[in-house]
Amino acid sequence: MQPVRELTRLLLPVACPCGELDVRWCARCADLLAGPPVRAERGAPRLDRLDGVPPVPVWSLTPYTGPVRDVVVHWKDRGRADLDHLLAPALRRAAARLGPVLSRSLDDPLDHPLDHPLDEAAGGAPGSAGGAPGRTRVRMPLAVVPVPSTGAARRARSREPVAVLARAVAHGLHDAGVPARVVPALARLGPGRDQVGLGARARGRNLSGAVRMTRRGARSLGQRSVCIVVDDVLTTGATLAAVERALEGHGHDVLGATVLAATPPPRASVSTRAEADAGHERKSDQNLKA
Ligand SMILES: [Zn+2]
Repeated sequence: MQPVRELTRLLLPVACPCGELDVRWCARCADLLAGPPVRAERGAPRLDRLDGVPPVPVWSLTPYTGPVRDVVVHWKDRGRADLDHLLAPALRRAAARLGPVLSRSLDDPLDHPLDHPLDEAAGGAPGSAGGAPGRTRVRMPLAVVPVPSTGAARRARSREPVAVLARAVAHGLHDAGVPARVVPALARLGPGRDQVGLGARARGRNLSGAVRMTRRGARSLGQRSVCIVVDDVLTTGATLAAVERALEGHGHDVLGATVLAATPPPRASVSTRAEADAGHERKSDQNLKA
């Protein structure tokens, strides 16, 4: 057996996508993904709604640079599905940290009239304020909506990597006591032009309206759901903006989005990123409270 294993190792060497040999992922790459989540929407110009409403909050684990980029590319497009076991737990932990933040938004009846008075149901808190006598106010579970892949990408990968992340987010929210369920509600429209080589604005036009609600998704979300969107990487925000429009167009609220990594704003120099790393813990705590 041993010689066979040695031979397999020679033919299929194990390495972290950053190049470190003999480990599936290295401690340094794992550290980069250890979070905590920080707000990243300001670096995504296409999330600007141009109507005075602030962009949807996006929480990211890390900047999309260096080894993180290698990890994501290998995971998505180079057959390293085993990196699910690095990325999903990282996002699950991040979602658990976001749980209390999202929970407060859910509890604000002015912003999010979420409390649907329902008949006694399992898990409900009897006698919650505001419910009709004999009834329990039960919070609707948060809908965790993965950003859909294009048909071509799905065929090439024969799987939906973002679905793995969406499940991780739902688990993390559960860990924090926030009821959540994954609802793959959306699909891409048509093939669309390849995004490569298009500027931010052209990307926006290319994708504008290129996301649609599926019939099953509409049924699953019901009349009015509160959604958190999940994607792998935030770049210009064009895709996320299209997703937001598709959900809001059907009467749903988008509370925010969470991603593994976000492209740093163009002006973020190496030194400011280093500073950001140095003040990571403190800043992200503020961000979590924001
Ligand atoms: Zn590595």
